[in-house]
Amino acid sequence: MKFDELGLMPELLRAVADASYSEPTPIQAQAIPVILAGKDVLGGAQTGTGKTAGFTLPLLQRLARHGNTSPSPARHPVRALILCPTRELAMQVHDSVKTYGKHLPLRSCVIYGGVDMNAQLAELRQGREIVVATPGRLLDHVQQKSVAFNQVEVLVLDEADRMLDMGFIPDVKRILALLPKERQSLLFSATFSEEIKKLADNMLRAPQLIEVARRNAAADTVTHRVHPVKHEDKRALLAHLIRAQDLRQALVFVGTKHGAGRLAHYLERQGIEAHSIHGDKSQAQRTEALEAFKAGKVRVLVATDVAARGLDIDDLPHVINYELPHTPEDYIHRIGRTGRAGNTGDATSLVAAEERPRLAEIEKLLKRPIEQVAVPGFEPASVYHDPLDKRRRGRGGERKADTAPSRPARAPHPSREKVSASVIAKLGFDPSKPYEPSPSATTAETPATPPTHHRHRSRRPVPALLGGGPKKEPSSS
Ligand code: AMP
Repeated sequence: MKFDELGLMPELLRAVADASYSEPTPIQAQAIPVILAGKDVLGGAQTGTGKTAGFTLPLLQRLARHGNTSPSPARHPVRALILCPTRELAMQVHDSVKTYGKHLPLRSCVIYGGVDMNAQLAELRQGREIVVATPGRLLDHVQQKSVAFNQVEVLVLDEADRMLDMGFIPDVKRILALLPKERQSLLFSATFSEEIKKLADNMLRAPQLIEVARRNAAADTVTHRVHPVKHEDKRALLAHLIRAQDLRQALVFVGTKHGAGRLAHYLERQGIEAHSIHGDKSQAQRTEALEAFKAGKVRVLVATDVAARGLDIDDLPHVINYELPHTPEDYIHRIGRTGRAGNTGDATSLVAAEERPRLAEIEKLLKRPIEQVAVPGFEPASVYHDPLDKRRRGRGGERKADTAPSRPARAPHPSREKVSASVIAKLGFDPSKPYEPSPSATTAETPATPPTHHRHRSRRPVPALLGGGPKKEPSSS
């Protein structure tokens, strides 16, 4: 498939050629013709799939007829609104709008909190066809009457699940209420909970579902490893691993913003250059931390999930989960930072006893157990108990000790012990069998049906996802 087979106008094809993209990604190939046709879209895609160009290119084409060079603000009303959960993502999306729209006379701006409103106010008053914004700051502008939405033709809600996690859905609903009913709406989300489904029901009209393979399907180049450790020994173990494995560029995930700051300080005190990035940091601090990390000036970037969302890092050799995330999808999202584009990467998790249930959920989503390696000197005193535990211990019932932590190995397949039917029923797969990707995992694209192995969350076929289908769950009413 080539870009010029998608029905894009020459100005956009030129911009794509300028960006040196040789062919559309799967989500672009699917989404561009549908959005060009004016249809609503429910997109299941994560960052890194090329989804931004997937919606930005057709959006620009749909607005191209309004392009003009008049200095009059009245000739540049807001025609498209793109809502993003974080400043970083908003900036990235806006960069894409500028990159792909550079040969079109359309104006755009980006609106986010944490910075002075005046510059944004001036831009909005001059008139902008495309506004990329985080919801809270956009509502501030609405309150100041610096922006009107009566000419909006296209609405994009990017990373809707993050919007939900961050508590932005009420703000999003307030903004939706201000938009014309006649419009095209596009909603993108990496996961589809009941709440996202409800939002999609309210926001979209006869949407087309477009899904591309989830990262767990494509992560074969990533080595997963768990180091069991007592909670209080985690930071010392982390410092040990960074030194012993001579890690040069590691992204470390923590659960809270306070934890991020504390851990970065601890590493600094240990002589390991580290920065943290979280919601309380100013935009300038975040940008500075990211630039220093990308330039190799700091070895470790400690981040919360929220702050890491939308970080413009193409590929990283090491992702470390200092704490496991609360949802298995977030694990997939975190490790999606490594092993991209066929490169190898490692995903290391420091797991305390109380995090075992979260680990079980992650293994279930990955459809395989993760190798556990106790690092000498950091072995937890207590032995964990779970159905997989027996399988992970050696013949003598001992946990495997890591004799060479500086040489990470690809996780082997679990030993071929016979596993009881009840364990298989509980896990939803047979852990004694080699991992086999689901049919959708073997290709870059999936048909319009989300994966079904994912039983703990809502993963239903398109009509059901959109509120129809043969059987409604009680909680969706
Ligand atoms: P996104 O998922 O939108 O955040 O995009 C991830 C990265 O892929 C960005 O750095 C884009 O510049 C890049 N990208 C988008 N589309 C293509 C394409 N068709 N070919 C190569 N790279 C692309």
